[in-house]
Amino acid sequence: MRDLPAVDAVLRSPRAEALVARHGRAGTTAAVREALELARREILAGGRPEASEEAVLATAEGVLSARGLRRVVNATGVVLHTNLGRSVLSEAAVTAAVGAASSYSNLEYDVAAGRRGSRYDHAVPLLKELTGAEDALVVNNCAGATLLALSAVVAEAREEGGTSEPEVVVSRGQLIEIGGGFRIPEVLELSGAHMREVGTTNRTRLSDYRKATNENTRALLWVHPSNFEVEGFTESVGVGELASLGLPVVADVGSGALLPISDEPVVEKAVRDGASLTIFSGDKLLGGPQAGIVVGESRWISAMKRHPLCRALRADKLCLAALEATLYAYRDGSAREELPTLKMLGAPAEEMKDRATRLAAEIAGAAPNLFVDVAPSVARSGGGTLPLYEVPSYAVRLGSEGIGADAMAEGLRSAATPVVGRVAEGRLWLDVRTLLKGDEEAILDAIGELDG
Ligand SMILES: *Cc1c(COP(=O)(O)O)cnc(C)c1O
Repeated sequence: MRDLPAVDAVLRSPRAEALVARHGRAGTTAAVREALELARREILAGGRPEASEEAVLATAEGVLSARGLRRVVNATGVVLHTNLGRSVLSEAAVTAAVGAASSYSNLEYDVAAGRRGSRYDHAVPLLKELTGAEDALVVNNCAGATLLALSAVVAEAREEGGTSEPEVVVSRGQLIEIGGGFRIPEVLELSGAHMREVGTTNRTRLSDYRKATNENTRALLWVHPSNFEVEGFTESVGVGELASLGLPVVADVGSGALLPISDEPVVEKAVRDGASLTIFSGDKLLGGPQAGIVVGESRWISAMKRHPLCRALRADKLCLAALEATLYAYRDGSAREELPTLKMLGAPAEEMKDRATRLAAEIAGAAPNLFVDVAPSVARSGGGTLPLYEVPSYAVRLGSEGIGADAMAEGLRSAATPVVGRVAEGRLWLDVRTLLKGDEEAILDAIGELDG
């Protein structure tokens, strides 16, 4: 332990200056302390870490660069990878967000009238046009939007009087959990609604809903079981049929497909089928920023805006700017070319094969000691959407005599720009479908670091 350098000595070394310039004195000092602490722990565990100032600085540099939200290469083939940030924004959306971030805006200002406006007005005309709905509201995320919608339904019922126990009817087949602990029964409880379950896990009929409604029923909740599928002896009731019962239908369609993809519910159809409120995510299949979007009847949208939760869940200006730009791509008919999420999902497998072949050749050239080949793989939509939907893709497979696939995966994850792949059949698979411009370079750098 005595051989370990003092914090000051490490900070006085010439290489420390560069770190201080980049990360600040306080941050660098803390990182050096952490590096020394790591070395002490290693010694206590019987190890013999290098005790030079250089070695401590190198550890500190690692600590600093691994900190914070940063770029990661997604080579998993999962397009809407929730852990990796779901949708990547289009260029137009990025430009719009940068614009909103770097200047003042009319976020809550009516420029023509010269007085206060509403942030809830942005994106609304576009959402109305694209979905055919009467009105729209954008909040922070879909989970929040669902909670707000149900809370507003309950609050309205209480205000009107007539019932102290407003009920919401939902099928047992739709009492789902979305990732991150968002469970429909708990959301219903939080909203103050009394949940009336109908049907069974695999079968629910319209007559089940009809029998369960009474004078306290305030809404029928329809939830898209987005992250799993029940197969075999099943029956469920669509939004259209539910709406025929004459009660408000709140439809949480989840992924927010504005264009048809596989059998994902399309927002416009839910609106046309008569849902009073249709709720969906901004950053799933829509391909925009994180947002909870609600479209539907003005009466219910207004009720949501009046509810105090609305303020607590409000979307920020960067989100609104990016969302508007994303929606313009749908209106202009360029969504499939401009939005990375849709582009990745739709690119032909042949294109992936070419891309994988080129990448494999570059890797083989740069790291001749690695085993490298190209294999067909299966990419996925991810993000709790289309669980069984397979997108034919290609991957570069890496192997090595020296280290196992898991160790190689760990090595690539600890690169300056981490590369996240998938280990299968004793190889590290890098699916090219989810690669963005410049990612190949980052992969080659990471492999270089691995060798070094
Ligand atoms: C993903 C999903 C949500 C949650 O959406 P977030 O935007 O992540 O909050 C809610 N409901 C359904 C059906 C979903 O698929």
